[in-house]
Amino acid sequence: MKIGIIGGGFMGLVLAQKLAAPSRSIKVFEQDAQIGGLATYHDYKSFIWDRFYHVILPGDAYLLQVIKDLGLEDKLRWKKTYTGVYVDKHFYSVSNNKEFLLFPPLNLIQKFRLAFTILYASRIRDWREMEKIKVEDWLIRVGGKKTYEKFWKPLLLAKLGDSYKHASAVFIWTYIKRLFEARNSSAHQEQMGYVEGGYKTIFNRMEEIFPEQGVELLKETSVQQIRPAEEGGIFITHDGVEEHFDKVIFTAPVNVLQKVVDTSLIAIDNANKGVEYLGVVCMILLTRKPLTDFYVLNIADDQIPFTGVIGISTLVDTRETAGHYMTYLPKYIISDDPILRKSDDEIKTWFLEGVYKMYPHIHEEDIVDIFINRAFKVQPLQVLNYSTLIPKTKTLHPDFFVLNTSQFVNDTLNNNAVARHVSQFLDNYAAEILQNQLTESIIQQ
Ligand SMILES: Cc1cc2nc3c(=O)[nH]c(=O)nc-3n(C[C@H](O)[C@H](O)[C@H](O)COP(=O)(O)OP(=O)(O)OC[C@H]3O[C@@H](n4cnc5c(N)ncnc54)[C@H](O)[C@@H]3O)c2cc1C
Repeated sequence: MKIGIIGGGFMGLVLAQKLAAPSRSIKVFEQDAQIGGLATYHDYKSFIWDRFYHVILPGDAYLLQVIKDLGLEDKLRWKKTYTGVYVDKHFYSVSNNKEFLLFPPLNLIQKFRLAFTILYASRIRDWREMEKIKVEDWLIRVGGKKTYEKFWKPLLLAKLGDSYKHASAVFIWTYIKRLFEARNSSAHQEQMGYVEGGYKTIFNRMEEIFPEQGVELLKETSVQQIRPAEEGGIFITHDGVEEHFDKVIFTAPVNVLQKVVDTSLIAIDNANKGVEYLGVVCMILLTRKPLTDFYVLNIADDQIPFTGVIGISTLVDTRETAGHYMTYLPKYIISDDPILRKSDDEIKTWFLEGVYKMYPHIHEEDIVDIFINRAFKVQPLQVLNYSTLIPKTKTLHPDFFVLNTSQFVNDTLNNNAVARHVSQFLDNYAAEILQNQLTESIIQQ
């Protein structure tokens, strides 16, 4: 049995890990020189760490299982972290339930409405109703305008940029669920984790063990076409060569699917409606002294160009980052926004103005180095009735499947959701994919 997986991001790699068996040949096609996609690593000259910030939550059971299966459990590190909001030029901690509910910019009634919104959202089970209403309208209706302006809007801006105006209430529902999962019930304080060495440790281990498990990683190999074979199975074109596979699973973004797939393989209406993605431009600052005490700071201030501050060094030991303090300053924008195409120097000058405004204790001489990383197709925007726009996992062809993050209709974008999506996919389709092969052996719990 020969299986092709398109995309060597976390989804494609976890899928390969779980499908690997001696009787199978699996090829993972990755267009970049490095595996890992959005979760990959970056060379910061004096050390290597994640290209974008990545955190693991104690409730990330599926992700933690992947880490355990790779034999990396002993490399997990956990720490208490702090979350803040920047409003009216003030920093407020919202790191535990008490601080959250005492959030000073809100008066007593507004605080009550904030607590009510969270409680109400956490009890909702039917996300389909939430998909029919804009997030802004839902939050104002449930929590009131003032609470919205002071508390929720900064958060929406930090996570979605101006595109929050088009997002459905599912977005905040999934966010509240994940946020509260991070709060350790005994300490009522956020615990967050990472793997020593960052995601590079995870990807290195995969590269090390995959060959002996029959998984071949083809880097710098872009898939140009996917079409059905008359005799059954699927043809993939890469490097100008056509190769036959019994089954093919596509994990890259929807715009790539639309470009490379033969229209007989997927329903046209799904392919045409499309999914809009947010991109991210992120300045990474290495400093001699800490910039922030918060792991995450959400920003509500038009004068500040970035939408959040991620103090990775509040979580990750500075021995991992050559003794420097590392801070990510992201700005999320719709993927065709010209900001994503601004030069690195333009972004640096613009973002640094914001840094100096917010953190007067930081001066030019405190900065060791600055990097700009960007990605165009990061997070599908959950617009109204989003679930009707996405490509289905099961396509028109029995040998071709689509499995990507656009299908997260009731989840935030994170690697636990990726690992869960893969597990659920195998629960539903393993028998179909492996046909007459024994299915029990494939899902390595
Ligand atoms: C700024 C930021 C912060 C994040 N923070 C967290 C966090 O704290 N915790 C967490 O769990 N998650 C976090 N995430 C989310 C996490 O990175 C994603 O869940 C994960 O990377 C998605 O993986 P994927 O494989 O689905 O997609 P991708 O990573 O996009 O992988 C798709 C792959 O397909 C490849 N590809 C595309 N076209 C082709 C082609 N034609 N041929 C071959 N290959 C192709 C791409 O190069 C890419 O490698 C964050 C992401 C970002 C951007």
